[in-house]
Amino acid sequence: MEDPKNFILPPNSYNEKFSITLTNDYLIKRQKIFSLATILISSLGTLLAATLLCIYRDISIQIIFISIIMYCLTMLGIEVGFHRYFSHGAFQTNNFIKTVFIILGSMAVQGPVVFWVSEHRQHHAYTDKQGDPHSPHLEGGIKGLWYAHIGWMFDNKVTNFTVFANDLLHDKTIVKINKMYLYWVSLGLLIPAVLGGLLTSTLMGIWQGFLWGGLVRIFLAHHATWSVNSIVHIFGTNPFKTQDFSKNNIWLVFPTLGGAWHNNHHAFPTSAKAGLYWWQIDFGYWFIRILELSRLVFQVKVPSKEIIELKKVQSS
Ligand SMILES: [Zn+2]
Ligand SMILES: [Zn+2]
Repeated sequence: MEDPKNFILPPNSYNEKFSITLTNDYLIKRQKIFSLATILISSLGTLLAATLLCIYRDISIQIIFISIIMYCLTMLGIEVGFHRYFSHGAFQTNNFIKTVFIILGSMAVQGPVVFWVSEHRQHHAYTDKQGDPHSPHLEGGIKGLWYAHIGWMFDNKVTNFTVFANDLLHDKTIVKINKMYLYWVSLGLLIPAVLGGLLTSTLMGIWQGFLWGGLVRIFLAHHATWSVNSIVHIFGTNPFKTQDFSKNNIWLVFPTLGGAWHNNHHAFPTSAKAGLYWWQIDFGYWFIRILELSRLVFQVKVPSKEIIELKKVQSS
């Protein structure tokens, strides 16, 4: 039987010699400006798109199609790339797929991969305790929910990358692609605009592609991912009694592409599979399976039925 520890230990990339957060004024200011800009621009864009839709009642099937495809690809970049691969090492892959994951994840505009991974590993190291960058339980109530969803990006702390993402900082490919973050963000707006123009053969198609496939898509992906930090650490079921408040939340499984099987994930952080049973739909894992069958990813970590049941028995 496989060693259960393979699925409960965090990646061996921590460097505990340093403080887990930085209080450098320049970095704090930069993080706040980036967070505010991305939240405001995507929210205002969504408001504008919704208002125009109410007034003109005009959106083509091509624009809807482009937006859905862009959403799925960039959320796969986040859930499969940034989360299961870069944060947890749930499988191995080559430099090409690594690069594609960083580009797709960056287009979701949730910060560069090194930032995302550092924050997320810090969350796993201190889940729902002092040191968790976005737990809803440190404050509680609506205030805690707001903090876990958005407020955490504006506190006066920046996660120390050298503590939590030391391995990424030693990978030249990752560092190089990470530095080009703003190019990938721009590409994520340009692609749907160009496709909108080409598929509808209208100037309006360019504008609607930018608005729906760009800004609205980013807005929706933001709130899907952040809901895992906030809502899914409060509401749902916890079949595994982990040392935290993580839950499985069936309502958020579709928009998070499987990420909302979050109690399962906290029980088995390095598993490529978040939906552990056949009925737990997990688009992220299906995508990993397709890549595995195409021999583009390998050494995919999946806990056996025995290990899952063992953990359940230990939990009860
Ligand atoms: Zn969590
Ligand atoms: Zn995780």
